[in-house]
Amino acid sequence: MPAKKKILITGAAGFLGSHLCERFTKEGFHVIGMDNLITGDRKNVEHLFHLETFEFFHHDITKFVHVPGDLHYILHFASPASPIDYLKIPIQTLKVGSLGTHNLLGLAKAKNARILVASTSEVYGDPLVHPQNEEYWGNVNPVGPRGVYDEAKRFQEAITMAYHTYHKLETRIARIFNTYGPRMRLNDGRVLPAFIGQALRGEDLTIFGDGSQTRSFCFVDDLVEGICRLLMSDYALPVNLGNPDEITISQFAEEIIKLTGTKQKAIYKPLPQDDPRQRQPDISRAKKILGWEPRVSRSEGLKITYNYFKELSREDLFKKEHRFS
Ligand code: UDP
Repeated sequence: MPAKKKILITGAAGFLGSHLCERFTKEGFHVIGMDNLITGDRKNVEHLFHLETFEFFHHDITKFVHVPGDLHYILHFASPASPIDYLKIPIQTLKVGSLGTHNLLGLAKAKNARILVASTSEVYGDPLVHPQNEEYWGNVNPVGPRGVYDEAKRFQEAITMAYHTYHKLETRIARIFNTYGPRMRLNDGRVLPAFIGQALRGEDLTIFGDGSQTRSFCFVDDLVEGICRLLMSDYALPVNLGNPDEITISQFAEEIIKLTGTKQKAIYKPLPQDDPRQRQPDISRAKKILGWEPRVSRSEGLKITYNYFKELSREDLFKKEHRFS
């Protein structure tokens, strides 16, 4: 039997990273999951520890990254990804997107591996074009609270393209829009775990601003499928991956109230600075190049996600919370 293809997944203990580890072990790869566990949780991948085809390295990728032997693919998913996290750890956020990415590109070059980096809709900032397609350059405030994440990710795209054009490295760039599903952190400040957590604790749901800002939520299984297809494609320019089904945050709160059957109501809090007004991916490129589009409706995906959160312990549910205000 030929040796298994080896893939390094950074951010392995995070929300997206853990789902990718699962998928690639199922696809017959040998997976090395790497994480420094600052925002990730070992519990997210513990169910894979018994597999011979899964290894976990506790490592900070802003330091030199060593992987013994052959390596065929790298998925770079290490980064804090919610505003509350990158406000708390701004320097690490900048370092993992810049120094961390540089180390992984160096590793990819040394091993002749193909690398896919997780970029984000945040590269479009508070967009002046709607929906956002890959040709749009964005509207980012570099010195605002989101600047540490947005600019790290923009640098990440730039250095990835430079390795592609200068070193002829095989690179892929996924621009990931809001994604949700099981294993999101309950207290990371993101709107979906925030609302579901509030409903489960019997608290009011906190809408920031007047709730007219929009987001478009993609279920994690759809996103993972898009990542796999992009990795196996031969397309080096950025590709948007997300669900174009756009909704206002007020409507979203209503959906969560209905889904959870909570007796609580929505209350209004100040809008955080530089919170994008609207966000919806134009996925024409992904459709054309990858033959990909999301399949899971929000109502289906939300049910699965709610069932996951319902199973959490009371201790997890009431763990220290974070609030913008
Ligand atoms: N949001 C909210 N209440 C919360 C948490 C977030 O109204 O308890 C809003 C937030 O201001 C933003 C939207 O929901 O407009 C999505 O926030 P999230 O942090 O999930 O993602 P991002 O802003 O990065 O898209």
